[in-house]
Amino acid sequence: MLPLPDCSADTALVTRPPLAAGALVSAEAILEYLQGPAVHVWRDLHRVLKPGAHLVCRAGAYTFDLASIGIRSAGFEYRDTIAHQGTPGWEPILLFRKPLHETTVARQVLATGTGALNIEACRIAGAPRTTHKAGNFPNPHTRASSSWGQAFKVGAVAEVPSGRWPANVTLQHAAGCDERGCLDGCPVAQLDGQRRARGEGGKLRTGDSGSCYFEQFRTSQEVLDWLVRLTTPAGGTVVVT
Ligand SMILES: [Zn+2]
Repeated sequence: MLPLPDCSADTALVTRPPLAAGALVSAEAILEYLQGPAVHVWRDLHRVLKPGAHLVCRAGAYTFDLASIGIRSAGFEYRDTIAHQGTPGWEPILLFRKPLHETTVARQVLATGTGALNIEACRIAGAPRTTHKAGNFPNPHTRASSSWGQAFKVGAVAEVPSGRWPANVTLQHAAGCDERGCLDGCPVAQLDGQRRARGEGGKLRTGDSGSCYFEQFRTSQEVLDWLVRLTTPAGGTVVVT
């Protein structure tokens, strides 16, 4: 059991989910997992998190389905999966939230600071995407939103944001890439190369075409820092397991 009081933490960041991947090859083993000690880990995280707090789980590509069921079983609500593209493959990052105690996200944020994603701190540099005449911006008359920043300026005129909404696809450079360019096999270079092959890009350089729409990281620590920034209120407590 974690040495924390109930409803005291703002985010749970799980970097090693409680799975014994090699053992989960039979129906019996899977059922045992779903009813066994691993579930207590998720339930304990549910206990220590504040209402509306997020749980982020870096799960393996071959076992994320089971981790997801375990987290759901502990009482969390599924919110999204971030498809993190590194080398040599992709990694699903599961995003869950402990159910709200208040009646709306806005009231939960005011009560505990939790419940919303910190979109404004995670925008991707560049012009925001616009899909209609007025732009793809928050409605100033909307009473509640699931993001911080402009979400609660009810009745105010929305300002044009300074970057794109963060996507649920992220990219990580190959080890050895630097400011001068990317190595062969780097996901960023591959994405730009695909765009160039269709005639949509120019010289193969980071940010020239498709990759500029996604958050890009150099190291695994940068990925963790970004996940915390996205899900945690300023000064909040993060439980890392
Ligand atoms: Zn690269």
